[in-house]
Amino acid sequence: MLDVPGRRAYFPKVSVSIERLCPMAVLPILVTPDPILKQKAVPIACVDQRIVTLLNDMLETMYAAPGIGLAAPQVGVSERVIVLDIAKADQPRAPLRMVNPQIIWASDERNTYEEGCLSVPEQYAKVVRPKQVRVRYLDETGTEQDIAADGLLATVIQHELDHLDGTLFIDHLSSLKRHMILRRLGKSRKDAAAP
Ligand SMILES: [Zn+2]
Repeated sequence: MLDVPGRRAYFPKVSVSIERLCPMAVLPILVTPDPILKQKAVPIACVDQRIVTLLNDMLETMYAAPGIGLAAPQVGVSERVIVLDIAKADQPRAPLRMVNPQIIWASDERNTYEEGCLSVPEQYAKVVRPKQVRVRYLDETGTEQDIAADGLLATVIQHELDHLDGTLFIDHLSSLKRHMILRRLGKSRKDAAAP
C-alpha cells in the first residue's frame, strides 16, 4: 500500500492501554530457597482474563521492585508467564508480556552481564549466555509473536525463561561462587531479622 500523506487521519489508531482498563496489584516476591522457585512451571492453555490480570500484576510488581524482568514463579504462580521492560528510567515504558515463551534459536556468540534477581536480593554475579536469541511466545491477546533479541534484552529473556524451569542465575555459577552468594544472603536475612 502506498503511503498517502494525510491518510492516517482517516484511520485514527485507537489505543487504550490495558493498564487503564484493569486495576493492578503489587504481589509479594518469593526469595530463594522457596521451593516454588525450583519447580518446572506449566504451560498456559488459554490466554484468558486471569492471565491478562496476572501479566499486569506482574508488571506492576516488577516496576515497584524495581526490576527489569519477572517470572510468574517469583510471585508464587508456577505457570509459563514472564514480563520484562529494559527501557531506562528516563525513557517511556516498553513492557513485554510473554506467555509460553520458547527460545527457538540462540547464537554461538556469548555475552557476559552482571546479573541480579529479585528472588536473590542484592546479590550480583557475572553470567555468560548466548548474545542473541529468537523467542516465540503468545502475547497478552493470545497472538503468536516471534522476536529477535540481542544484548541486555536477550540476557533478560534467558534469565526469566530459566525461572520457568526452576533455574536461578546463581545455578550458572561455580558451586563455590553460588555458596558464597547463598551464605551472604542467609547472613543479611539473619541481620535483618535481628532485633
Ligand atoms: Zn530472576
